[in-house]
Amino acid sequence: MVMELRKTDVIVVGSGPTGLMLANELALAGVGVVVLDRLAERSGQSKALNLQPRTAEVFDLRGLLEPVRRYALGNWGSGHFGGRPLTYEGWETRHPYQVHIPQAGVERALEERLAEQGVQVSRGHELVGFTQDDAGVRATVRTAAGELRVEAEYLVGCDGGRSTVRKQLGVEFPGTDASLFAFVADVFLVNRPATIPTRLRSVHDAIGRRSDKGSGGLIPMGEPDLFRLIYTSAARPDRTVPVSVDEITSALHALYGNEVEVGEVRWASRFTNATRQAAQYRVDRVLLAGDAAHIHFPAGGQGLNLGVQDAMNLGWKLAAQVQGRAPDGLLDTYHTERHPVGARVLDNTRAQTLPPQPSPETLAMHRLITDLAKLPEANRHLAGMVSGLDIHYPFPGPPHPLLGRRLPDIELTPGNWSSTLFHPAKAVLLTTSPDHLKTAAPWSPQVNATLIPTLPTPATLTRPDGHICWTPPPNDPTPDSLLTALHTWFGTPPSRP
Ligand SMILES: Cc1cc2nc3c(=O)[nH]c(=O)nc-3n(C[C@H](O)[C@H](O)[C@H](O)COP(=O)(O)OP(=O)(O)OC[C@H]3O[C@@H](n4cnc5c(N)ncnc54)[C@H](O)[C@@H]3O)c2cc1C
Repeated sequence: MVMELRKTDVIVVGSGPTGLMLANELALAGVGVVVLDRLAERSGQSKALNLQPRTAEVFDLRGLLEPVRRYALGNWGSGHFGGRPLTYEGWETRHPYQVHIPQAGVERALEERLAEQGVQVSRGHELVGFTQDDAGVRATVRTAAGELRVEAEYLVGCDGGRSTVRKQLGVEFPGTDASLFAFVADVFLVNRPATIPTRLRSVHDAIGRRSDKGSGGLIPMGEPDLFRLIYTSAARPDRTVPVSVDEITSALHALYGNEVEVGEVRWASRFTNATRQAAQYRVDRVLLAGDAAHIHFPAGGQGLNLGVQDAMNLGWKLAAQVQGRAPDGLLDTYHTERHPVGARVLDNTRAQTLPPQPSPETLAMHRLITDLAKLPEANRHLAGMVSGLDIHYPFPGPPHPLLGRRLPDIELTPGNWSSTLFHPAKAVLLTTSPDHLKTAAPWSPQVNATLIPTLPTPATLTRPDGHICWTPPPNDPTPDSLLTALHTWFGTPPSRP
């Protein structure tokens, strides 16, 4: 029996990092949002342990980095590509490091910000079905008290790798099945030898251990003797069987010797390298984001980051669509921009993993990658790819090397950074020309136009997600190209009274 009817603008299914980031973006734009999660309470468990530099920048664009950092355990000075160290020195960023933070901390900070915006996650609310037509989406939600119907303009499935939304949409999920089986276990160690450090400079220092039985390593988790063990072996366990203390002990002994023992096991879980991507991120009024849209081996620490960045790309577009101000085709650019980014992550995680019994040719190829990754230019390339700093969307307009790329944070005046201009999730025009300001004036509700005495870059119009969508073409003194870009991304300006 349907008990209750709720109406909203957007239903977000899932309160993982992707759903929470998206809900924050929608709420910030003044869009009504209902966030559903089937869990009665937050699990507190953390699969992911890091923020990549681009995700730190994205959080900075919303004033979220410092609140998120409150739950961080520190920074790692470098990342890795299949265990090979990566540095961010070649990238212009204020955050050339990874934030070491358990996923639960990211979720907590995002949920706290969402509550500040007046939105509470509806827990114990499981989406069990939905229909859509020209008029909207109708979702059926199971709760302990009975069934609930929620109606909205749009619904976004941020409901993880086994997404109900994706399955019910019938969207294909092509890719490859698991061939590599691994587990994580958060364990307290007993008799920890000094060779297991309690602080890490870089995560690759920890995870690159190999024995003839398997590979992995230990990452300190910020509490005395609590470590995350990651272990991959040739064994093919039944995924439904919980990870046993014996399994954890034998992995630990294989990597670190027999001295160290396993104490309390706080949490353990199996995972694989099953790699798949939704063929479409949008079917009319229903969209997919985060793990619901893509799954892959967690090599290099990218999945949470990819999901948060999906949400950043989608949020302002969906808000514009719901509020009736989106230009034609804007919402479809979510798929055209983010599907290739996801596909590239799937590809690079495949390139980072060795099969259980690698052939001599595969091993030779991996040795070659190890050598190449030491070359500064190759290292920069890999660091840009894994961190998300090199994302380059194919935007229309006169070609320019900056077009489609992220705007690095610019110090406009001492201590005053361009990132703060993005806090309200508006586009940002940075220019030295009063004419540009005049051209953009009709879009003032959506575009924060700022006149700067001097700029280290040419003038830029940057979307709310931090990607540059216009710079003046060389030798073009007219405002026409700016006008075109404003129409392309922000539609017809609101009429003035
Ligand atoms: C072992 C391991 C280690 C990892 N390490 C890293 C790392 O270091 N760095 C990194 O970036 N990524 C890492 N990842 C990946 C990362 O954890 C995921 O990419 C991330 O959790 C995806 O977030 P999400 O919000 O898209 O989905 P999820 O976190 O899966 O959240 C989905 C939410 O939807 C809810 N839900 C599901 N179905 C329904 C329904 N029908 N109705 C209502 N609610 C529903 C769930 O309860 C859940 O809260 C790792 C993954 C694994 C397995």
